[in-house]
Amino acid sequence: MNSPTSDRPQVTEADVLKALRGVKDPDLHRDLVSLNFIDNLKIEGSVVSFDINLTTPACPVKEKLRDEAREAVMALAGVSEVRVNVKAEVRQHAGLDKSALASVRNIVAVGSGKGGVGKSTVATNLAVGLAQTGARVGLLDADIYGPSIPIMLGVHEQAELRGNRIIPVEKYGVRFVSMGLFVPGEKPLIWRGPMAHKALSQCLFQVDWGELDYLIVDLPPGTGDVHLTLVQSVPVTGGVIVSTPQDVGWKISLKTLRMFQQTNVAILGIIENMSYHICSHCGAREDIFGSGGAAKASKELGIPFLGEIPIDIGIRIRADEGTPIIIADPDSPSAKAYQQILGKLAAQISIQNYQRPSLRIEEVPA
Ligand code: ADP
Repeated sequence: MNSPTSDRPQVTEADVLKALRGVKDPDLHRDLVSLNFIDNLKIEGSVVSFDINLTTPACPVKEKLRDEAREAVMALAGVSEVRVNVKAEVRQHAGLDKSALASVRNIVAVGSGKGGVGKSTVATNLAVGLAQTGARVGLLDADIYGPSIPIMLGVHEQAELRGNRIIPVEKYGVRFVSMGLFVPGEKPLIWRGPMAHKALSQCLFQVDWGELDYLIVDLPPGTGDVHLTLVQSVPVTGGVIVSTPQDVGWKISLKTLRMFQQTNVAILGIIENMSYHICSHCGAREDIFGSGGAAKASKELGIPFLGEIPIDIGIRIRADEGTPIIIADPDSPSAKAYQQILGKLAAQISIQNYQRPSLRIEEVPA
């Protein structure tokens, strides 16, 4: 006589994959199987185990995908247990593997139309926040007109020189280099094109970055030589624009947008900084400068809106103290805003990398 367990239908690999084809990544608009996200599928009796290999450890829908995948397989006849292991492997942007930065998977340029909008603060918090998710992150301070990131990261030492190689300073899990550090003598007040070109090239190619998932480049405000050198030297995954609500009609930020577009840099999205104020007494939100300007502009221009960050004295104080708020006060509304934004940014980077045809994407028959 058969035991009750042997009566149970044996689930097959094909059944499991069919079930997982019903689970879609909401950002990439494809199912987990056709995206090649499923690895190490094993069936032992009625126990099914597999890995989901996401495109970023900062994936904002990590838990949702894991739960949906587990439920889909659990619903199959003959399955008593599903073990899902979620991991991530950041995919490399097209062409970087053949460049002088082959160990870097993505280069993200952060720009703004003018200074003082909080671009460097955003770049720093995003870099540190991405590193906290487990990603390997580099941060290049290319804002030659106001290199403020060393203060924000509390980095007082110079990057080390070994022979003609630059060893980045490691802080909060981020490998950091500032362009300002490699200019001999007095730092120039005026950067001529060739000087900016040389300093940026050194900071890109003479640095021992090691393996990086994301290299965040904090550009100088406006448009100019540093940006041009960057895009002419390496394939950039995309650009992020930091704006403020005072940018009436989005006139200033539009120049940054055009700069990215004219140099064929994909727009990963817009971030509105100093968007609103949270009353430190009652916690109420005050839209001092009106609200939704950048969100509206991004909708009209057809580019992603990554989110808004409040005006928060805590952001300024933590920056001056050398500990980004995302580390110093991770449960604050501002840190939460950065966390949400970095999830969306990482998703946009993945979208860019999946849009290129060379990737291994299996077509699903209609
Ligand atoms: P940029 O890189 O655009 O020139 P910074 O990042 O250097 O601007 O920021 C300018 C100043 O504004 C710094 O003192 C910084 O601490 C502060 N700051 C940036 N973002 C915020 C914010 N959301 N709330 C309060 N202060 C901020």
